[in-house]
Amino acid sequence: GGSQTAKELGLYEALTAQDTEVHSHSVTPGDFKQDPDIYICSANGLSETGEVVNIDGSCNRVAGTLFGPKRCIFICGINKLCPDLQSAIERARSIAAPRNAQRLHRKTPCAVDGKCHDCRSPERICRALVVHMAPPSRMDKCEIVLIGEPLGF
Ligand code: SF4
Repeated sequence: GGSQTAKELGLYEALTAQDTEVHSHSVTPGDFKQDPDIYICSANGLSETGEVVNIDGSCNRVAGTLFGPKRCIFICGINKLCPDLQSAIERARSIAAPRNAQRLHRKTPCAVDGKCHDCRSPERICRALVVHMAPPSRMDKCEIVLIGEPLGF
């Protein structure tokens, strides 16, 4: 899945260097792979109570974390961790989404001032809010790798 965290870690380069079959639509636009053995992405917010929060626009990223892959790994910097679900959602909406809109050069109000205006822009990137409360039952494994340094948005 598209992930600034994976990009900062050089994950694609590291995996392809090991001759692993890797698909990334961030590296190869249009190369969506929704049923791999392992799906790797990050999260827009994590709660200390165990929930994983993600906001998506085209929604392929959140779809891949819900059904299709045999296994899902969320790789997250410590900056994603919030005390509870409400603050994790707030983080996703008020920090991660505007930063991603800026990164993607979207014509949205948040891309201008860095704040969410709950817009109805045609270029709105916030179209689905997904909260994992537990690992999806059809996956062999769904886990979080929490890294003790700030990564991504
Ligand atoms: S709802 Fe609109 S203004 Fe708010 S973060 Fe999403 S794209 Fe930006």
